[in-house]
Amino acid sequence: MADMPIIDHDKCQQCGLCASICACGALVADEKGSVSIIEVEKCGWCTLCELVCPYGAISCPFEIVIERKPDQD
Ligand code: SF4
Ligand code: SF4
Repeated sequence: MADMPIIDHDKCQQCGLCASICACGALVADEKGSVSIIEVEKCGWCTLCELVCPYGAISCPFEIVIERKPDQD
């Protein structure tokens, strides 16, 4: 299974911001703002959820590598 953003539920304040900004629908907040569902097949690994969380409750354990093909110089 691919690496996914990790939610630290001890730090999460259930603001729902990460779910609202996730364009892929991989994060889902319930009516109380609790983010508890991550659908791996939807995640686009953009890391926005980690960037926007005001409480540092999400970490993205993956690294984005952009490779250039030899004929792209
Ligand atoms: S943005 Fe952070 S604090 Fe808000 S719901 Fe997401 S993980 Fe929790
Ligand atoms: S990394 Fe991007 S696509 Fe994946 S859950 Fe976070 S905001 Fe959504």
